[in-house]
Amino acid sequence: MNIKSFLLKIKNHRTTISRHIVQIVAFIIINYILLEVIFSINLLSLDRLVKILPIINSPRNPISSGAGIMEYIFYFIVEGIFPIFLIAVLVIILLLTNRVFCGWICPIGTIQDACAAIPVPKKRVKISTHKSLLKIKYVFVILITIIVFPLAITATTNYEFYLDYRANIGEFGDKPMGFFSLSEYIFVFFPNMIIDMIQTGSIQPLFSNMLTFITFFFYFIIIVLSVWYPRVYCRYFCPFAAIASAVSEYSFLKLTRNPVRCVGRSECGICEKVCPKQIRMLDEPFEFFTGKGECNFCLKCKESCPYDAIDMKFG
Ligand code: SF4
Ligand code: SF4
Repeated sequence: MNIKSFLLKIKNHRTTISRHIVQIVAFIIINYILLEVIFSINLLSLDRLVKILPIINSPRNPISSGAGIMEYIFYFIVEGIFPIFLIAVLVIILLLTNRVFCGWICPIGTIQDACAAIPVPKKRVKISTHKSLLKIKYVFVILITIIVFPLAITATTNYEFYLDYRANIGEFGDKPMGFFSLSEYIFVFFPNMIIDMIQTGSIQPLFSNMLTFITFFFYFIIIVLSVWYPRVYCRYFCPFAAIASAVSEYSFLKLTRNPVRCVGRSECGICEKVCPKQIRMLDEPFEFFTGKGECNFCLKCKESCPYDAIDMKFG
């Protein structure tokens, strides 16, 4: 490859290159405790910045000091407090920025994109199966809500029942999103398990109970699958994605398709082929498309369209 074609390639992929740079910087900022450990420095002032980012992270996270907005929302609900301010912040962010966070900032998205960068042919899920699988993440959110609902009601009205119920649901009361969050696994469970393994000098911590092992195995498979099925966790399992999809369909920030320039699926269809979320934007109106809120605004479709038919609009 000569220098001219190399520069052309960079120019054609400048959005993706910019996105990956932002993802790497965000990953480092969010996990800045790693920098503190590696370089023996104190970056405490970053704490406030990290804490306001809507990341599905955990307050108990030993690597990242940040706790995600979803984690905080459920945390307050369990304590019997309705976090109206946090919910309003989340909705406003999604209405103004769509799911730019998912495509450009979320560390779990970055990890999946890194897996998808392994050069193997990508696979697509059958459309009917894909549509069914998309519902799983909503089931997770509904399940979490149903389980924590009695806590929210009884925290101030029947404290005896509250304590009893909370004791009965065990760890779930302390971390409602824990079992449903890949973030919790990568940034909390996994590092803690490795520390335990090093301290005990055995792999026994992995088999400490059946639920731990099954969940570990489940998320391990998801990470492996993301090599062939980009963003598989975002598509089907992420609780944040469920909330974000529901709101971002109404976002002011949108993608549009120019009806004069676009030549359609039979002539081209490149936009659908490159989309990591398997969105069929050519079935959506020209005025705007969101893939029913699934679009994470990675802009790969816009960048790849040979007819420059895809654009962004606000309003
Ligand atoms: S890549 Fe562009 S021209 Fe081709 S189908 Fe998609 S929007 Fe239309
Ligand atoms: S529709 Fe376009 S911007 Fe949205 S996820 Fe697919 S490729 Fe990315």
